[in-house]
Amino acid sequence: MKIAVVGAGLSGLNAARILSEYAKVVVFEKKEVGGLLSSLCNSYCVEKFYHHCFKQDDYLLEVLRELNLHSKLKWRVVKVGQEYEGKIYSLSTPLEILRYPGMSFFDKVKLAKFTISAKKKNYEEFDNKSVVEGIKEELGEKLYRSFFLPLLRSKFGDNYEEVSYAWLLARVSIRSNRKLRGEELGYLKGGFAQLVEKLSENLEIKFENAKIEKGGKWTVNGESFDAVIFTAPLPELNLSFNLPEIKFQSSICALIAAEEKVTEDIYWTNFTNAPFGAMIEHTNFMPFEDYGEHLIYLASYTTPEKLYERSDGDLKRIYLSFLEKFGFKEEYVKKFYVFRAKYSGPIYEKGYLKKITPYKLAEGFYYAGLTSETNYPERSMNGSLLAGKKVAEKVIEDLLS
Ligand SMILES: Cc1cc2nc3c(=O)[nH]c(=O)nc-3n(C[C@H](O)[C@H](O)[C@H](O)COP(=O)(O)OP(=O)(O)OC[C@H]3O[C@@H](n4cnc5c(N)ncnc54)[C@H](O)[C@@H]3O)c2cc1C
Repeated sequence: MKIAVVGAGLSGLNAARILSEYAKVVVFEKKEVGGLLSSLCNSYCVEKFYHHCFKQDDYLLEVLRELNLHSKLKWRVVKVGQEYEGKIYSLSTPLEILRYPGMSFFDKVKLAKFTISAKKKNYEEFDNKSVVEGIKEELGEKLYRSFFLPLLRSKFGDNYEEVSYAWLLARVSIRSNRKLRGEELGYLKGGFAQLVEKLSENLEIKFENAKIEKGGKWTVNGESFDAVIFTAPLPELNLSFNLPEIKFQSSICALIAAEEKVTEDIYWTNFTNAPFGAMIEHTNFMPFEDYGEHLIYLASYTTPEKLYERSDGDLKRIYLSFLEKFGFKEEYVKKFYVFRAKYSGPIYEKGYLKKITPYKLAEGFYYAGLTSETNYPERSMNGSLLAGKKVAEKVIEDLLS
């Protein structure tokens, strides 16, 4: 039995790892192992796109245990911040939230009640309602504009109006587990590159752009296989299976290695009107000593058409001139990288729940990845690893048992 896996991201690597016990597996990867979880490695390794994990990521934790990486997992309570009228406020503890001047006490209470009530709602019922409509109905125009609009823009760029209210409700229920001191996040000391490396061990990986065809058997770049598992983003698929169209968003992540930090101790900062969506200060999460320089991500989401609208040089100039308002000077910057991903996740638009991609698309042809059920309401390392496991189980059930 010979199986092709297209894509060496977490979905593909995990499916290949599991299936290797049962069959000959060949992985095809057009760019680099790790996909959206690839890293920049020099004297240390750090992810090109910021990454952390959550206590609820059960399957990711199981895989880390299996691969003997679990002892490297560090949990830290991180601070989140919000910029208001040119100043960054930490919104990590109840007291800090109470003191925050950007919202009335009444609105803060409304928001807290909303978080509790979201968990009790059956989010699926709201899949055809837009997130904008849902928030305005539940919380009013003022909270929508002052609180949710900047967050939606930072998460979905210009596509935010298409997003479903179901997505917000599902997202709030899975993520509202904050401690009184703030939110607890996990990170693999030394970087998630170690997870990618361990998953890839002993796999046959061909660095080729996969072209899939169906004659008598499935072929990938002319080589025949009993089954193909496609784990790349669907727009990369060169075949049609009459699947509903899913819109994707793109990501731009600038990574700054610097001599100084921007905020004292905040990990994640949201801005009301910035040229990027959010600022993630990695070295306010993991110790500076692990890297010897401060690491700051400036992340935004956009559309595939606008991904290269601005050059790296323009982004650097625009971003750094914005950060100057917060006391961060260009002379602090040692290196400035820009990473871009054309298909970095689906847009959870109205009606998305009906579009989720099944694991089996045709006889001998399977899918696992960003649009699998496990990656709703948020694509994640946990969701992609689990999609890889579930598709492998389906292949085993169909062909190998
Ligand atoms: C900005 C950003 C931040 C994130 N932060 C977090 C986080 O904090 N926590 C978390 O849990 N998750 C996070 N994620 C999500 C996580 O990275 C993804 O869910 C996961 O890595 C996706 O893995 P995948 O294998 O499903 O898809 P991908 O990583 O997209 O893998 C698909 C692979 O297929 C390859 N490919 C494409 N076309 C072809 C072809 N024709 N032939 C061969 N190969 C092909 C691609 O090069 C790629 O390597 C983040 C993602 C982004 C973009």
